[in-house]
Amino acid sequence: MKKPFIIPVFIPHAGCRFQCAFCNQAAITGVKRRIISPEHLRILVNGYLRYNGQQRKPVQIAYYGGNFLGLQNDDILMLLREADQFVKAGTVDSIRFSTRPDTVTHERLDMVSSFPVSTVEIGVQSMDDGVLTAARRGHTAADTEKAAKYLKARGYTVGMQMMTALPGSDEDKDIDSARKIADLAPDFVRIYPTAVVKDSLLARWYDEGKYQPLSLEAAVTLVKKIYFLFREKGIPVIRMGLQASEDLDKGISLVAGPYHPAFGHLVFSEIFSDMASSLLREAGDIAHRTVSLRVNPRSISKMRGLRNRNIEILKSEFHPDSINVIADTSLGEEEVRIEK
Ligand code: SF4
Repeated sequence: MKKPFIIPVFIPHAGCRFQCAFCNQAAITGVKRRIISPEHLRILVNGYLRYNGQQRKPVQIAYYGGNFLGLQNDDILMLLREADQFVKAGTVDSIRFSTRPDTVTHERLDMVSSFPVSTVEIGVQSMDDGVLTAARRGHTAADTEKAAKYLKARGYTVGMQMMTALPGSDEDKDIDSARKIADLAPDFVRIYPTAVVKDSLLARWYDEGKYQPLSLEAAVTLVKKIYFLFREKGIPVIRMGLQASEDLDKGISLVAGPYHPAFGHLVFSEIFSDMASSLLREAGDIAHRTVSLRVNPRSISKMRGLRNRNIEILKSEFHPDSINVIADTSLGEEEVRIEK
């Protein structure tokens, strides 16, 4: 799948009839307004188009952060018409949006069918009804199954977002959810470890001792397992971890939990650490020798880990004199080869 140049337009909480326990979109996105005005939308999109210096294609306007198909009809039509003007002018190729599964109905899909919408992302979060109830999602796993069926029948590219360690969940339930999501054959997925965001219901539960988030290490390992599950089924994982934002990075909107601005990188680093570790184990005694790990040039930082953490771990486990990481274009992006 060719990576699109996405112009994100946040419509925080817009169209939400529910308040999910974990969510405070204004805190996550830093955007306080609900529906963007047409004028502001045009300024925003034009700004991004200027930024797309290398003319990366395809270009998509993406409505994120709310429940798109839950908006008032007038708002849906205004946002689609505005985006469609850019498509007609040839500067944008298509539109995408994220929405709740229970808002994907034939009536709503008929309404958007005349616009150049190519991709719909569904906020699945979990396929366990008990977890969905505990997280106050207000929909069931059956709603997701139905939404996937409707969207696929109309030829949309379908993305699914899932969360790990929601209230009432555990590793088995999260992995089972991932399996059920994979069975629905989405075109791509995003995995978000639950973080406790300021002014969310979850923040209150955390304060009251009713919810405990995973540590960063545990969240990385769990997401790694889920990543493998999707990879085995050939389903691209296009994001792991919340989108970095200034407020989250500064800790202004984060109360607790496994947020890291480079969460996906941490997952890949652990995957490379595991691969290198098992190769070094098979290699026999390498104590006091120099070892080289060959990886694709794009994977060097994943092999090293943040601040060389992987190299330090491998050194303390296997005691070589040194470990070199060498770029090797003959290798795939998820391969490691050892040279003693
Ligand atoms: S997670 Fe989505 S549906 Fe739930 S409150 Fe937040 S924006 Fe609305």
